[in-house]
Amino acid sequence: MEKDGRFRLRSAYNLVAGDEDDEPGSRWKDLWQWKGPNRIKHFLWLVMHGRLLTNKERTRRKISTNSQCNFCKDQDETIEHILRSCSRAKSIWDKFNDKCVANSMNLPLHDWLMDNIRQQGTGTDFGIIIWHLWKQRNEEVMEGRIFSRDSLIARIQAWFCIVEQAKRHAQKTTCSNSATVQSRLVCWEPPREDWIQIQSDGSVITQTGKAAAGGLFRDYLGRCKGAYVCNLGSCSITAAELKGALEGLKIAWKEGYRKIELKLDSTTAVDIIKQCDRDDHRHGSIAKQFDLFFNLDWEVCVSHVFREANFAADYLASKAHDFDFGTHRFNVCDRDLVQWLSHDVLGTSHDRNFNVN
Ligand SMILES: [Zn+2]
Repeated sequence: MEKDGRFRLRSAYNLVAGDEDDEPGSRWKDLWQWKGPNRIKHFLWLVMHGRLLTNKERTRRKISTNSQCNFCKDQDETIEHILRSCSRAKSIWDKFNDKCVANSMNLPLHDWLMDNIRQQGTGTDFGIIIWHLWKQRNEEVMEGRIFSRDSLIARIQAWFCIVEQAKRHAQKTTCSNSATVQSRLVCWEPPREDWIQIQSDGSVITQTGKAAAGGLFRDYLGRCKGAYVCNLGSCSITAAELKGALEGLKIAWKEGYRKIELKLDSTTAVDIIKQCDRDDHRHGSIAKQFDLFFNLDWEVCVSHVFREANFAADYLASKAHDFDFGTHRFNVCDRDLVQWLSHDVLGTSHDRNFNVN
């Protein structure tokens, strides 16, 4: 928050990074104009400022004693190593050499980053690639396995696709708003390949107590595989969140999906599903219904997603009030839903837009 009470991304960056001063000059401006998800923009900012917690940096801060690269085990893991000189990075740049300015690999790291990020045609893809080089590394450390070059390439290509679709859509729908639109640090993230993500949300109208829920199914390319809305009559918002998610699971099971990421933007609901005492909680009986589904022969991961990445489900939950009691399933997305889908990807929205300057 700034002095005028408004939230600005720039203040958020400063906060995250511990910087007090704004940065004049073109470096910031170029980064600001980078066209892609804000989450990646934030990552690019950290890279520019040398703020990634690499193994080298961890040893410098005495958090760790091993500064080596986990992948090649040959050199120190620095930002430069991760993004360019590690054999892992080289093998990825071999594949995507058209996304990198010719002969720029020998430039100093910072110039290389700036040169590539500001490219009109390939700048977005460049950002997506280096973000994945970092992200995948973190996932490997957490999951204790090394992903293949092919799977990394497939993921990067999926992201090119998703971001491109969202950009194209945003261009179509935001022409009327000529102001520079910026927002958040969070945005929607696709499920893993061959998984289906259920985004679910609940809604209660305060005045009437009427409850509804809605959700949608998406694949790793961000494609919507259908949606559902449920008019639930009257119940609490938490019950609505839970019942909506349950409906999503029911449909997913019936339609033959067997790897599910269930995403809810209510931490209360996620906690209830994951860990409440089934016999001693007011929502224990709904939690038991989740257990029945978890016992089926499929994989289901339940997790929290920020509201800013769940606008599509939020939209469906509000829309659900207009329907008759019960659950209704759709195969096609209406125009408004498509708009919210792209907003989830880019991390922008109409209702909280604000000007940067
Ligand atoms: Zn390495």
